[in-house]
Amino acid sequence: MKQSRLFAPTLREIPADADVVSHQLLLRAGFIRQNAAGIYSFLPLGKKVLHKVEAIIREEMENAGSNEMTMPSLQLAELWQESGRWYSYGPELMRLKDRHGREFALGPTHEEVITSLVRDEVKSYKKLPLNLFQIQTKFRDEKRPRFGLLRGREFIMKDAYSFHSSHESLDVTYEDMKAAYNNIFSRCGLNFRAVLADSGAIGGKDNHEFMVLSEIGEDLIAYSSESDFAANIEMAPVNVIYEASTESKKKMEKIHTAEAKTVAEISSFLSIDAAKVIKSVLFIADEEPVLVLVRGDHDVNEIKVKNVLGAASAELATPEETEKVLSCKPGNIGPVSVPENVKIIADHAVEYMVNAVAGANEENHHYQHVNPGTDFEVSVFADLRFIQEGDASPDGKGVIRFAKGIEVGHVFKLGQVYSNPLNASFLDENGKSQTMTMGCYGIGVSRTLAAVAEENNDERGLIWPLSLAPFDVHIIAANSKDEIQADFSEKLYDKLKGAGYDCLYDDRKERAGVKFADADLFGIPVRVTVGKKAAEGIVELKVRKTGEMNEIHVTELIEAIKSQRELLAR
Ligand code: ATP
Ligand code: MG
Repeated sequence: MKQSRLFAPTLREIPADADVVSHQLLLRAGFIRQNAAGIYSFLPLGKKVLHKVEAIIREEMENAGSNEMTMPSLQLAELWQESGRWYSYGPELMRLKDRHGREFALGPTHEEVITSLVRDEVKSYKKLPLNLFQIQTKFRDEKRPRFGLLRGREFIMKDAYSFHSSHESLDVTYEDMKAAYNNIFSRCGLNFRAVLADSGAIGGKDNHEFMVLSEIGEDLIAYSSESDFAANIEMAPVNVIYEASTESKKKMEKIHTAEAKTVAEISSFLSIDAAKVIKSVLFIADEEPVLVLVRGDHDVNEIKVKNVLGAASAELATPEETEKVLSCKPGNIGPVSVPENVKIIADHAVEYMVNAVAGANEENHHYQHVNPGTDFEVSVFADLRFIQEGDASPDGKGVIRFAKGIEVGHVFKLGQVYSNPLNASFLDENGKSQTMTMGCYGIGVSRTLAAVAEENNDERGLIWPLSLAPFDVHIIAANSKDEIQADFSEKLYDKLKGAGYDCLYDDRKERAGVKFADADLFGIPVRVTVGKKAAEGIVELKVRKTGEMNEIHVTELIEAIKSQRELLAR
């Protein structure tokens, strides 16, 4: 491609409304342009990178036995009503009507469409398992579209769905998909982890998010310093062995603690460690009051509370509810002498607390020397707290560290959540009708592109990995008005194309400085500059990532490019 014909409008200034580096650089380098909030055009360079991401995904999905197809974006409301999501999906679902007043959704995801297709076409166990995928534009009216392609309202997703006659069969495909995702994100050069995630309302424990570790990530991940353990911090189990205290138990006594309410205030008021304080939090779980206790230096994990109670809902009690149940405001509540209808559950760490401080259920008062089992009874000790940095990793290997993550992919065992309401059934070996079991597997294609840009750049621009670069080689004629240089560059362009490289050739009659600045912005892995020494057959080879620069005779150029690319591929 000759750059004089390339549509890549570059910007020198940082666009004011772009607050992450990938968004700034993709705009500045002319890869994308915004059309409306969360809605973008892919300009030619962006489109080339997108093609490469898609090609990697396609190859790995097909290798894993998934078939590519395309489903419509316009989806009948009836289908969404059948699954129930027409009512539960909320304002993220873009809804519209046709000229006859029939309602449609612009597909944010395709479980309904694919399930209705497969239920109509597949009737026998012999046709299962079946794995189908598509790469397509999705629509979600996100509350906060932001960070450019990272959270758009119109974005490109790869979504795959698998159908099975048994859970065992789903287990096999799920592992295959995880392996394919590992290959995909490795080939994109990303630093990522497969993270155990919360299954939310759907339940089931096999649900992994593929997270790129990044400072701008919206999710917090707990991962092991030594193993591949990684989980969303909401999900990470705490598997810490607490040491029994050698302190002898003292007699509980009530003390005046003035205005001190929070754990921090109490520990400073009494000059004790936060780990000496019992943190008491009142929940209303399925309309019943439950007092949840954790050690003062720990935090209550509401998801774990809900799971341990097996409750449909578990919400923090409001100050009014707290006062009604415990006759005291939050801040002075505690487990001693609570009314009988209040269930007490506690985190494992609380079992090991000796002579602790807890609220006295009386304004301005706490108890000190409180001992579980002696001064109050706990109905269940369980894992109820958030994991913390420095805790032992739950798999016993290494310690926990935290990182932020960008979710680029998601694999999920759906079970029969969609096949049930949509009646996707098949006849088994015995001719008996059974409900299909399903899995779904998404990748944010445009988000992946942005995540790569976010991780690979410097102050001068983007730095694409070989696998995704819009071109392999950038040839620059330092002075296109110089006939020798222009002629030489033209020949070199043909030669490198002949050697199989996709080349961008800057033949514009611009100053060399402008050309170099644009080249740095684009981030093509290697750059060949044809300058004054062209007359002697010498060019300059520069590696974008390392900045390494060498003068090379043109006869050795192809070999030199090859070896630089081999170095970059490592
Ligand atoms: P998030 O928590 O980021 O909103 P999600 O859980 O809603 O993601 P899924 O429904 O699992 O996402 O969609 C599959 C994939 O599509 C995600 O893993 C993500 O990479 C991508 N994706 C989701 N929403 C967006 C968006 N608004 N813009 C770009 N990519 C997105
Ligand atoms: Mg979402």
